[in-house]
Amino acid sequence: QSKKNGRNQLNFFDPNMQRSMSKRASLDAELHRAIDHHEFVLYYQVQVDNWRQAIGAEALIRWQHPELGLITPNDFIYAAEENGLIVPIGLWVLETACQQILAWQDSPLTQHLVLAVNVSARQLKQTDFADQVLNLLKLYPIPTNQLKLEITEGMLLDDIDATIAIMRKLNAVGIRFALDDFGVGYSSLQYLKRLPIEQLKIDRSFVQDLEDDEHDRTIVRTIVSMAHSLGLDVIAEGVENELQLRLLRNKGCVHFQGYLFGKPVDIRQFNALLM
Ligand code: C2E
Ligand code: MG
Ligand code: MG
Ligand code: MG
Repeated sequence: QSKKNGRNQLNFFDPNMQRSMSKRASLDAELHRAIDHHEFVLYYQVQVDNWRQAIGAEALIRWQHPELGLITPNDFIYAAEENGLIVPIGLWVLETACQQILAWQDSPLTQHLVLAVNVSARQLKQTDFADQVLNLLKLYPIPTNQLKLEITEGMLLDDIDATIAIMRKLNAVGIRFALDDFGVGYSSLQYLKRLPIEQLKIDRSFVQDLEDDEHDRTIVRTIVSMAHSLGLDVIAEGVENELQLRLLRNKGCVHFQGYLFGKPVDIRQFNALLM
């Protein structure tokens, strides 16, 4: 009764907001359930060199929802980052990735592949993140140079010293880092100077219009030459066609990822792709 006409707090929310809040609450609850019921899967997208040979893959999480089907990370990672579930989810991703790298050791077709795993700020900032990874390495004795961690620049803004310390601890055992979505965050050059990273991933937004946008061509050329001058490897994301590939090569890029070489697929399809 009082909810309908009184000064109940609920009345201060408009109906849309209430709806989106309860939607959000149920998303949080569903994510909890998804962890308990093992509803996450990893997809793998191939990364290639200048000769189109597979050099590795990026692991991309999917949520196999019992009613809604396959859900892509853009629809749930932000929520998991906010409610903290990204920590257990991210640990599952890392463990699954380590298992996969270990399984790849069994075949000469796959035993050289480097697997790149996306790591959220919230994960990386846990004080025991490095120890968690080191523990996984005890369970899964993989060549550590075959695990790469992708971080994004925007997420590191606060407490960069603590983050660098964690990264160095992992560097010390051979794990390398890539800076994802390079060029779209803040303070790129500050990060570039300070972070112990090994690779830049040129964001897809610069690759997309390479054909028509002279400025994008200039930006890509500049990123590649700066990266190489700093001794960093570069990979272009989101390569969809031959023209983009040609333009990227022309700017000095030699590592690529995108639909042109393969969409993210489940492990069975991925391994089949290499046969
Ligand atoms: P990202 O790390 O930048 O991954 C690249 C995204 O671009 C992937 O989207 C991939 O499917 C898509 N992509 C690759 N090649 C092409 C292309 O040629 N054209 C187009 N249009 N798209 C392409 P996806 O799988 O939906 O993942 C989105 C984002 O979700 C990722 O962006 C990453 O930031 C995040 N993410 C994915 N998996 C994880 C995870 O395990 N943990 C965390 N924390 N974040 C994840
Ligand atoms: Mg990534
Ligand atoms: Mg990216
Ligand atoms: Mg992205």
